[in-house]
Amino acid sequence: MPANEPGAEAFVGLGANLGDARATLTQALAELAALPGVDSLQASPLYRTQPVDAQGPDFINAVARLRTTLSPLALLAGLQAIEAAHGRERPYRNAPRTLDLDLLLYGEQVIGLPALAVPHPRMHLRAFVLAPLADLAPDLLIPGRGRVAALLAGLDPQPLSRIDP
Ligand code: AMP
Repeated sequence: MPANEPGAEAFVGLGANLGDARATLTQALAELAALPGVDSLQASPLYRTQPVDAQGPDFINAVARLRTTLSPLALLAGLQAIEAAHGRERPYRNAPRTLDLDLLLYGEQVIGLPALAVPHPRMHLRAFVLAPLADLAPDLLIPGRGRVAALLAGLDPQPLSRIDP
């Protein structure tokens, strides 16, 4: 991606484990690409993963890389609008979810607001984030944590499989 494009590079994690999770993720990727202020979206392959810190059926996960002229909080608001459009409810913490969108990285920024922690605080522990992220950017540095491929290699095995496109 050319360095002279406007805006920041951001990475978004997507997950779903209710209903037709694969269709939901494909649709959410299209909606993310269509957000005003979002450009050049590149999606990882989809992965099928077992729930971690959550309940219910297997998840479908992916990561999107994009360029954006939105601020981190404005991008988060866009993600939350897409989640809401998919009818996400939060009956209790870590409940099964129709669609979960996380802002993983925003350039090299470190953000510690109540509403927004970037890098996402648990992304470096989760194969369902690191595996699709490694497909897009294995050498990417997660501020304060290390490089994506090295972090993935250092994790205890977590069951996941790539879904053929
Ligand atoms: P969840 O229910 O797991 O989707 O968490 C949503 C809440 O996490 C919202 O209130 C967000 O403001 C907050 N949050 C903090 N950091 C992040 C992040 N990096 N990406 C998405 N949500 C975040």
